[in-house]
Amino acid sequence: MEARKKVAFYTLGCKLNFSETSTIARNFQEEGFDRVDFEEVADIYVINTCSVTENADKQFKQIVRKALKHNDKAFVAAVGCYAQLKPEELAAVDGVDLVLGATEKFKITDYINDLSKNDMGEVHSCEISEADFYVGSYSIGDRTRAFLKVQDGCDYKCTYCTIPLARGISRSDTLQNVLDNAREISSQNIREIVLTGVNIGDYGKGEFGNKKHEHTFYELVQELDKVEGIERLRISSIEPNLLKNETIEFVSKSRTFVPHFHIPLQSGSNDILKLMRRRYLREIYTERVNKIREVMPHACIGVDVIVGFPGETDEHFLETYNFLSEMDISYLHVFTYSERDNTAAATMGGVVPINVRNKRSKMLRGLSVKKRRAFYEGQLGSTRTVLFEGDNREGYITGFTENYVKIKMPWNPELINTLQEVKLLTIDENGLVKAEFTDVTLINNGISNAFEALLA
Ligand code: SF4
Repeated sequence: MEARKKVAFYTLGCKLNFSETSTIARNFQEEGFDRVDFEEVADIYVINTCSVTENADKQFKQIVRKALKHNDKAFVAAVGCYAQLKPEELAAVDGVDLVLGATEKFKITDYINDLSKNDMGEVHSCEISEADFYVGSYSIGDRTRAFLKVQDGCDYKCTYCTIPLARGISRSDTLQNVLDNAREISSQNIREIVLTGVNIGDYGKGEFGNKKHEHTFYELVQELDKVEGIERLRISSIEPNLLKNETIEFVSKSRTFVPHFHIPLQSGSNDILKLMRRRYLREIYTERVNKIREVMPHACIGVDVIVGFPGETDEHFLETYNFLSEMDISYLHVFTYSERDNTAAATMGGVVPINVRNKRSKMLRGLSVKKRRAFYEGQLGSTRTVLFEGDNREGYITGFTENYVKIKMPWNPELINTLQEVKLLTIDENGLVKAEFTDVTLINNGISNAFEALLA
């Protein structure tokens, strides 16, 4: 009997890519392949690429070399956003056999027949306008949390962004499918589901192939909250213009949705927001943050921001810095602008020198550290629920509270994938929060005593 073929995966980029890799991997398994780790010998290596990654081409070549080091006869396939945007470039990389674009990636097993290596990578790509159908996905990230895709593509035209070119128009999974997937995930003993998509606030558009909204994001949130068995739901990232007050209010009273919002700002200057062709001004952003703070003072609010966009003067940057400095937010994800082919921003004037971009990025990253610390300090003394994760990090187990405070406690494997109530005590030198159990049974089990001994 012929041995079962082995397939390994490498994922670059966002949670959405991770959820799609899981779906592609399940397709392989259904076709009789065994999934192995990327560090092992496999017959096929699939690389799910990202176009947002800095030096995407260099990184891709390194990963291909790594795969071929494990097995120089292995079949290498590339899928994902970069494969859609630059298929010929990827196909020309030594050792690559197959490149699949946005419409083909979920059919990858149909393209893999005899596994013989090609001299030049074979490309099966499409015009991105053809990527108008929806493929549902979810992934189990670690043993505690799953990423559930609810929406794909984007109809916005932000001038710096290649995602609409790589993923196509905005379209959504049906409400029924999302609810079924959520039930399926929670039946696998997963405690937390993170909703993912390209522009999830646009949920409902393209459901049933109809460009009108069939359901809204607010309805999705309400329905998911009713699904039995789900313990925690997290909204990953949502555009400020699409985060409605009704959703914020619902989350504040919800059984499952946690008080954590990640809202892209990109710039605190209205001039730059207009150049970026974002669909809001800074005043809307302030309103959203104020609304969240009004109903959930303890909520965690994360912000995406881009520095060095063309035309961003020192004054514009200072506007962003001061805006964020004064705003009651909890952390920043800082992106340094870099030119992308086929985007409007790539040909705009007012190019910011690289050293200035880097300096601005460093300033905002410094501000982020201060913001996170201030947020954590404000949480000390409060009682929260932690979902403990699986890794033993130098004798500690870590996990996140509902409002995204990272907690560490002495390692105890029994805690993995459990939700525990803890009191937040102090912040350690690495910026993690030490805590103690509030449950006397755990204290009597010696877990807390061991922790106190470590604290002493
Ligand atoms: S909202 Fe703008 S930045 Fe986000 S995916 Fe759509 S076009 Fe890109």
